[in-house]
Amino acid sequence: MPDKLRAAIRDVPNFPKEGIIFKDITPVLGDPELLQLSIDQMAATADGLEIDKVVGIDARGFIFAPPIALKYKAGFVPVRKKGKLPWNTKSIRYSLEYGENEIEIHEDAVKPGDKVLLIDDLLATGGTAAAAVKLLKQLGAEVVCVTFLIELDFLNGREAIDCENIHSILHYS
Ligand code: AMP
Repeated sequence: MPDKLRAAIRDVPNFPKEGIIFKDITPVLGDPELLQLSIDQMAATADGLEIDKVVGIDARGFIFAPPIALKYKAGFVPVRKKGKLPWNTKSIRYSLEYGENEIEIHEDAVKPGDKVLLIDDLLATGGTAAAAVKLLKQLGAEVVCVTFLIELDFLNGREAIDCENIHSILHYS
């Protein structure tokens, strides 16, 4: 089944900058069967776990996290790029290949002890997901599972993430 997903993902060379091969998932999103399949497969990675909150990372994590949250009867929480959340936030800076980035979360979005499933579309260097896990832990949440649709295996991003339970539906080497 993941073969169907893999076949639909489009490689866009040199976007958004020279040297990056961007994995364009819009053909998956535009096909109801593939959209359902990607959500079902990502949700299944946390089968049997108790989940209080499904946290999605800005921006494409927001596509998958809410339907997965509904399957677990859990709430959805956005982790956003700096300056987008209206209320009191907790933020974290992290390094990118070139420069720095900052993400934030509403300080009341998770409670101490909440069991969290973290979702994003793609794992590259792991910097973004690692920062999100740190932020969630600083708020006292327990990150019980981290799931991506796509993982770029050759970047070893999962090594940066402080969680024992990391899953990706499609792997690229
Ligand atoms: P990283 O922090 O390096 O793991 O980068 C992950 C974030 O950047 C995710 O939110 C992805 O959506 C985005 N991203 C990084 N590399 C790519 C790529 N080659 N194609 C599509 N999105 C990417």
